[in-house]
Amino acid sequence: MTNAPKEKEITAKKQPAFQAPKGMRDILPSEAAYWERARETASDIAEAYGFGYVETPVLENTDLFSRGVGGGTDIVEKEMFSLKTKGGDSLSLRPEMTAPVMRSFIENGMSRLPQPVKLWYYGPQFRHENPQSGRFRQFYQTGFEIIGGEQDPVYDAQVIVAAVRFLESMKIKNPIIQINSIGCRSCRTIYRKKLLDFYRKELAAGSKKKGKAICKDCERRMDTNVLRLLDCKEEGCEEIKNRAPSILDSLDSPCRAHFKGVLEFLDEIGLPYSLNPYLVRGLDYYNRTVFEFFTEEENIALGGGGRYDYLADLIGGRPTPAVGVAMGIDRIIGILKSADIVFEPRRKEKIFVVHVGEVAKKKVFALIEELHKANIRVTEALGKDSLQSQMKAADKEGSPIALILGQKEVYEDAAIVRDMKTGAQETVPLNKIVEEIKKRLKS
Ligand code: AMP
Repeated sequence: MTNAPKEKEITAKKQPAFQAPKGMRDILPSEAAYWERARETASDIAEAYGFGYVETPVLENTDLFSRGVGGGTDIVEKEMFSLKTKGGDSLSLRPEMTAPVMRSFIENGMSRLPQPVKLWYYGPQFRHENPQSGRFRQFYQTGFEIIGGEQDPVYDAQVIVAAVRFLESMKIKNPIIQINSIGCRSCRTIYRKKLLDFYRKELAAGSKKKGKAICKDCERRMDTNVLRLLDCKEEGCEEIKNRAPSILDSLDSPCRAHFKGVLEFLDEIGLPYSLNPYLVRGLDYYNRTVFEFFTEEENIALGGGGRYDYLADLIGGRPTPAVGVAMGIDRIIGILKSADIVFEPRRKEKIFVVHVGEVAKKKVFALIEELHKANIRVTEALGKDSLQSQMKAADKEGSPIALILGQKEVYEDAAIVRDMKTGAQETVPLNKIVEEIKKRLKS
């Protein structure tokens, strides 16, 4: 205590005020209803489709991502927040959740459970990106993963449906599903060659015309990650991409049958989708089905996912079929806010406890504990002294009942129970209060 700075010392030198790190932000009470609703909705959907909740650490071994997500991807190459611990371990803040969830599946022996295992998660992810609208360095995802069992297209369809139901429950109107198949390793080897040949020809034609055919990044991608050429959003590159060979023509017959199976399940429930043969998704672990979700108005993905049968093997487990989806909560909430769509907090009614005078304040303080113990939700304005201002607060809160304790009530060991709608009041002994409130709340 003696070392604490004196008030004068604190105010003498004005310290610069801190700000949240770039691309990261606070969630404030005024917008908490959106965030609470998102988590509750994810939990409801998970329950309806039989997913169990999993929570993994925000830090993981860096190698989990470089081996799982892939060293040539933007996420691993440029976007990880990595650190060395004092013990010398290389850890990274998770940039995504699929690899951590699979790590957890393997580490916790979930392959011994009845298969497949359905897991869902919710939490912050971290990517060192250029912050802009809908793009943050800390952002939230919820996701649904189906791991193990057969390589059955029904599971691909089920995670897509769960994601769509999530968007609909979050009041996102008419979500658009873009879907593609990127085949297996052998389909991709054939396709990569076709794509590379096509781009080489384009480059040769471009240099003949003395114009640049593709952007610098794409030139690099030709050596590092050919499929990523299809991800480029540069105008010139997009024009070329739209003429590129389609991967769907390179699928072998098991991959084609699997994709047809997924689409048939979606057709069965009348879920519309749009085939996008140039959708590849940036991560190495995907195979066969890949998909993303958009709205008509916004060209920004609200979620995405796919099958990742190779991931378990890449991170030291046995080959395990798996498919999953991750939804971007920040973007979904961004859309709701700009469309002025509000979620009322799922407010449970609270009893308002009012005190008049210091002795009553102490009694009320104890009464609140008693009500909590009886699972009655309570609110108060212990900082306010006047009866009038406390009654105003009770009104604002929308409390159905107010409990009022003044000097007289303290003396009588009782409280006034006021029906806030009708204004009717009754004095009830304190030892009967819990019973009385429960009775009133029920009715
Ligand atoms: P991804 O697996 O990278 O496609 O991420 C799945 C979803 O997470 C995306 O469709 C976005 O909705 C969301 N997301 C990804 N990166 C960011 C980011 N930097 N800021 C906000 N949301 C993001």
